[in-house]
Amino acid sequence: PEYEEPKEARRADVTYDDLGGLGVTIDQIREMVELPLRYPELFQRLGVDPPKGVLLHGPPGTGKTRLARAVANESEAQFFHIAGPEIMGSAYGESERRLREVFEEASANAPSILFIDEIDSIAPKRGQVTGEAERRLVAQLLTLMDGLEPRQNLVVIAATNRPEALDEALRRPGRFDREIIIGVPDQPGRREILGIHTRAMPLAEDVDLDELARITYGYVGADLAAITREAGIEAVRRIMPQLNLEEGTVPPEVLENLSVRRDDFIAAHKRVQPSAMREIMVQM
Ligand code: ATP
Repeated sequence: PEYEEPKEARRADVTYDDLGGLGVTIDQIREMVELPLRYPELFQRLGVDPPKGVLLHGPPGTGKTRLARAVANESEAQFFHIAGPEIMGSAYGESERRLREVFEEASANAPSILFIDEIDSIAPKRGQVTGEAERRLVAQLLTLMDGLEPRQNLVVIAATNRPEALDEALRRPGRFDREIIIGVPDQPGRREILGIHTRAMPLAEDVDLDELARITYGYVGADLAAITREAGIEAVRRIMPQLNLEEGTVPPEVLENLSVRRDDFIAAHKRVQPSAMREIMVQM
């Protein structure tokens, strides 16, 4: 028999506290997803069907995946993940089978959240351009959504950064009929995100996260995480000369005094371009 992952291993470990600048979004998703998963009896009593599908849309790197993981964790639901392009790439007929299997497994383990990343690659607008394989996969996805019982305690969350590219049938009632928009973070949002990613980092006194939030206009969460990582690497580079390379050890006093300084962040900021910018430059 194949090795079975213990159930707990599928529980996502991020929480709402690991998301910066998404206060309102978190309120929305709690109401749409967490409440019905946690207290199905409330909805049953009122005769209200909770949503089966929620569509998250926003630019890459703004925390859509992390949000889906957090809501699963906070709802004490199992988390299942489908990467759109990955499932698309499989052999003829295979993609539909895999999609069905994940839906079955998620239903069998309810309460659960099934997250479909880059849903536009699974369910593009059906038209002249789409091939037979794509059309069948969209149809399969619609059938699976329609087959979900409202009381099943399974919510499908799908993410896209191209909502206009989706097949319209996907957004009909009973399918992905709720939408949450995630935008590029504003300055207070960036400040929160920087706070989260530097939580475990010793910061020198001259580091001013408010200043960093001010100068990172256009940077999304993934970019800010990259700046923080780069700043850490900068700090390592800076103390390299103090390492005892022959012994291969870090002197304890060096370790103790190690912190990330303002100039490390400034250097990192120069090196990390906002991802939206990178895309524009590729297009030019
Ligand atoms: P994509 O559309 O490219 O899949 P996404 O919107 O799903 O992107 P995530 O994968 O959730 O983005 O984010 C990538 C990483 O960026 C996260 O693991 C996290 O480190 C950081 N990040 C993004 N958004 C946030 C946020 N709002 N708060 C904290 N960290 C964030």
